Amino acid sequence: MARIQTDIILFGGGIAGLWALNRLLQTGYSAVLLESEGLGGVQTIASQGIIHGGTKYALSGNLSDSAQAIGAMPGRWRACLTGQGDIDLRGVRVSAEHQYLWSTEGLASKLAGFFAGKLMQSRMQALGVEEGPEIFQTSAFKGRLYRLDEPVLDIPSLIGVLSEKSAGHCYRLGAEDWELLDQGWGIRLRDGGEVLGRALVLTAGAGNQSLLLRFGRTTPAMQRRPLHMLMARGPLPPLHGHCLGASANPRLTITSHLDRQGRMIWYLGGQQAEAGVTRGGAEQVAAGRQELAAVLPWLDLSDVEWASFRVDRAEPEQPGGKRPENSFIDAREGIITLWPTKLAFAPLLADRLLDALRDQGIAPSGCELAHIPLPAAGLTSPPWERTLQWI
Ligand SMILES: Cc1cc2nc3c(=O)[nH]c(=O)nc-3n(C[C@H](O)[C@H](O)[C@H](O)COP(=O)(O)OP(=O)(O)OC[C@H]3O[C@@H](n4cnc5c(N)ncnc54)[C@H](O)[C@@H]3O)c2cc1C
Repeated sequence: MARIQTDIILFGGGIAGLWALNRLLQTGYSAVLLESEGLGGVQTIASQGIIHGGTKYALSGNLSDSAQAIGAMPGRWRACLTGQGDIDLRGVRVSAEHQYLWSTEGLASKLAGFFAGKLMQSRMQALGVEEGPEIFQTSAFKGRLYRLDEPVLDIPSLIGVLSEKSAGHCYRLGAEDWELLDQGWGIRLRDGGEVLGRALVLTAGAGNQSLLLRFGRTTPAMQRRPLHMLMARGPLPPLHGHCLGASANPRLTITSHLDRQGRMIWYLGGQQAEAGVTRGGAEQVAAGRQELAAVLPWLDLSDVEWASFRVDRAEPEQPGGKRPENSFIDAREGIITLWPTKLAFAPLLADRLLDALRDQGIAPSGCELAHIPLPAAGLTSPPWERTLQWI
């Protein structure tokens, strides 16, 4: 039976696992990533692809120290996108270089003073209507418009580039198709073969919880924050932006994507997706239709079809179930648990992993990864390509 030696075994091929794998390989580690479904997985492929720089959080009026960590993320990603950063992402499609933020008529004057403040001025630029996207170039738009220096990425192309760069290191292995070895950090496959590492890295998103239990651990604890996302498909112009409501959380966040048949999809998150978790699908669609008509009242939605989609954010447990402000790592005796908490944090989280390995005295051994008798992991599809009921 094969006995394969490597330095690091990662479980889970969303953004956390794929980014970490690429950085480990670059740094000279031997590493293998085991994915139970498809690369791009659960949250990553369902994300809106926004490389946040924290503006959304600054909307509450202040930024805590750790929340400021996110301010550096758009710059790090942009460096990667031009081939100057940690990972060469020149092959990734950028859906939008900037996002927009707009307010509805009722809020415009109330917010004007706030946006003139120092914190917000450094993060966003007020625009005249003629400088904004076409959709706002109508006399019906009575709100205010701002541009945020935060790009939006096409997630399938990001996953494609990261997995191509680590081809030969990503295998498909069902969650139940292995058992932990009694000794050391390794697993036994169904055919009796063994894969031995020097550390196990858990990058399985919501799957981290059951992996930890399997390894006899009850901590770090995980929380789920559910979302009920909406998709609108039809003759819509491209738009990437947030509509501000009365709370610090945008009332609606819209990103635009083309499906395989070239149809425009507006993917809708923000407050609407959080508030919609208790609604059924048809009810959420009705609420979404109403909300879109309220924030862009001049838009013709008569030929637009709708679908909804549920997904949970998986994160380290926080007091009161709040949103974590930073990426998360827990490194204990050969098991390292990671939750990025935001796609945007992936570069920082990989730095933290490399630091943790160094702290544990795990340096690259120089061993070459032998072929493992498992199928290569394939890619997963974005929500709008799945079988959903469009109404
Ligand atoms: C709707 C939505 C929108 C979002 N939008 C944004 C955004 O615009 N910008 C942003 O910065 N962040 C965003 N986020 C957050 C971001 O998507 C997540 O923080 C990030 O994608 C989590 O990545 P991950 O790799 O930890 O998990 P996942 O993407 O969930 O990947 C985990 C992987 O592990 C695999 N797995 C599970 N169990 C096992 C096992 N036992 N063995 C092997 N593999 C296993 C799964 O199949 C999956 O492929 C959004 C999240 C959601 C849900």
